[in-house]
Amino acid sequence: SVFRHAHFEISIARPQDLPPPDAAEIAFAGRSNAGKSSAINTLVGHTRLAFVSKTPGRTQLINIFRMRDGAALVDLPGYGYAEVPETVRKQWVRLLESYLTKRKSLIGLILIMDSRHPLTPLDQQMLGWFAPSGRPIHVLLTKSDKLTRSAGAQVLAAVKRQLPEWEVMPGQITVQLFSSLKKSGIEEAESVVAGWLAP
Ligand code: GDP
Repeated sequence: SVFRHAHFEISIARPQDLPPPDAAEIAFAGRSNAGKSSAINTLVGHTRLAFVSKTPGRTQLINIFRMRDGAALVDLPGYGYAEVPETVRKQWVRLLESYLTKRKSLIGLILIMDSRHPLTPLDQQMLGWFAPSGRPIHVLLTKSDKLTRSAGAQVLAAVKRQLPEWEVMPGQITVQLFSSLKKSGIEEAESVVAGWLAP
């Protein structure tokens, strides 16, 4: 699998410090608390990887992991964290915009959404910034264990109906249910990203 045993490489505070855009990058983005760190830990297969730094107001970092085939997994700062001053939140959203619209080596985006609150305005903003590139986006609807089977199926169908709004080509944006707690959805996510890395 593509993510298994990725290893931590570096944390950076500013996008200027990103490594040269030589290797393919897969970025993970999501609203703070949506379950991004848990999803990365689950996909990579060990805990303590995307270490959780939840101190309010603290500078958030971009964590970079190296996957087996040389591609980078880029863990972007969570957005929308209510406890952070407005100015800091705006600064991080600007960073995300710049990274998602300009980064040449970014070949695909994994967008993490809490399955109980999908497609928040900031999630839609991320789609609006990255989708025009024509590159693929895969949405993980996390914490699906908190929904009944039928509620999960309903959320999945509703999000599937809305995603084409941002697509510049059919099938560009895909979506699935995911649970780090139940370890469900891992194989589906892996196979989507494997397809990005070796089309
Ligand atoms: P992040 O801020 O997006 O990195 O979110 P975290 O991964 O730190 O998770 C936020 C909270 O949601 C934590 O309390 C996690 O234990 C919880 N959480 C994350 N994923 C799941 C999941 O799949 N199921 C359940 N029930 N809780 C989860």
